[in-house]
Amino acid sequence: MKNLLSDRINSLPASQTLAMAAKARELRAEGKDIIGLSLGEPDFNTPDFIKEAAVEAINQDYNSYTPVDGYLELKEAICTKFKRDNNISYKPSQIVVSTGAKQSIANIMQVLLNPGDEVLLPCPYWVSYSAIATLCEAKSVEIPSSIETNFKITAEQLEAAITPKTKLILFNSPNNPSGVMYTQAEYEALGKVLEKYPNIFIMSDEIYEHINYETKPFSIAAIPSLYDRTITVNGLAKAFAMTGWRIGYIGAPEWIAKACTKLQGQITSGTNCIAQRAAITAVLAPVSKIQYMVDEFKTRRGIIIDLLREIDGFNVNVPEGAFYVFPDISAFFGKTIKGKLIENASDFAMLLLEEANVATVTGEAFGAPNCIRISYAASELQIREAIKRIKEALS
Ligand code: GLU
Repeated sequence: MKNLLSDRINSLPASQTLAMAAKARELRAEGKDIIGLSLGEPDFNTPDFIKEAAVEAINQDYNSYTPVDGYLELKEAICTKFKRDNNISYKPSQIVVSTGAKQSIANIMQVLLNPGDEVLLPCPYWVSYSAIATLCEAKSVEIPSSIETNFKITAEQLEAAITPKTKLILFNSPNNPSGVMYTQAEYEALGKVLEKYPNIFIMSDEIYEHINYETKPFSIAAIPSLYDRTITVNGLAKAFAMTGWRIGYIGAPEWIAKACTKLQGQITSGTNCIAQRAAITAVLAPVSKIQYMVDEFKTRRGIIIDLLREIDGFNVNVPEGAFYVFPDISAFFGKTIKGKLIENASDFAMLLLEEANVATVTGEAFGAPNCIRISYAASELQIREAIKRIKEALS
């Protein structure tokens, strides 16, 4: 049949993280014993104290349309959280609550980007950034990194990537997929470059903020000279095991927040009322309440790194946050394994799926073609079994 879809949707790639998760589900339905390490989704239940807040909201008859930018109490709670955790001062008029951080990110790009604008993507970057930029008819400009530079970019690289068309740069620390975190000093060095280009906006995606193992992350909006053009994105999915509740939010210059609200007003309206009421409790809770999940992720991080390092050809960095490892597997390129020629990371991820029954995601989706992403938001048992299978398949 003739393709009657718009150019816009035809040019949009499907999300490879979700596609791999769907493929794993499909194979499972066929009876295959697939271990899914492709999706970044905590395997914990939402903590009881948050569930109780949601039940209370239902019983209190929260069921009407919500303000497009979120309940005032939630926005106030988010301001308290930004001050407490990130040393950033926002007023409620600078906050917009959305249906997941993904919508927050899409809002920002929709309200800031014109066709032909350039978006800088320090590699590796989360898969949907470039896709959303494409939807805005903007051009993604990758700034490469590798395991040798601990997956970080330098101030010199940043300066070299800037052109008169550069409109936005997207930071994400702790990073999905590499788990690395930019330090305050590193952000200040990058900030020195950005200070010279006042027309460039900064989006800082901090969704993995609380999942850190050695040091607390630094928020780039806390650099005073950048505050006025930085949008800080966060949400509840990862730290509070609330992926399906769909609560994301931004702190932004007021005029950007207003524009996001206008956009949301035409597309989704305000976010789900029950999830928002529960979010007030979650956002204000001391971080110690979710520490048990972070401790567990840390244990698993140690296990998966040790196991992967036993496999020849896996070059593994130590992620400081999030729940992914991002090994460089380029040593396998050009080799034939189980009759299959491995030319790139996608071939390798497919080999792991077909021969080891383990779902991962190719690094190509994240602008890092030498790597694959493995999520360790899975039980220790699953992690051990998955890596054992991978080892066997490759031996
Ligand atoms: N952010 C998660 C991931 O990277 C969830 C899936 C998605 O929305 O891409 O796996």
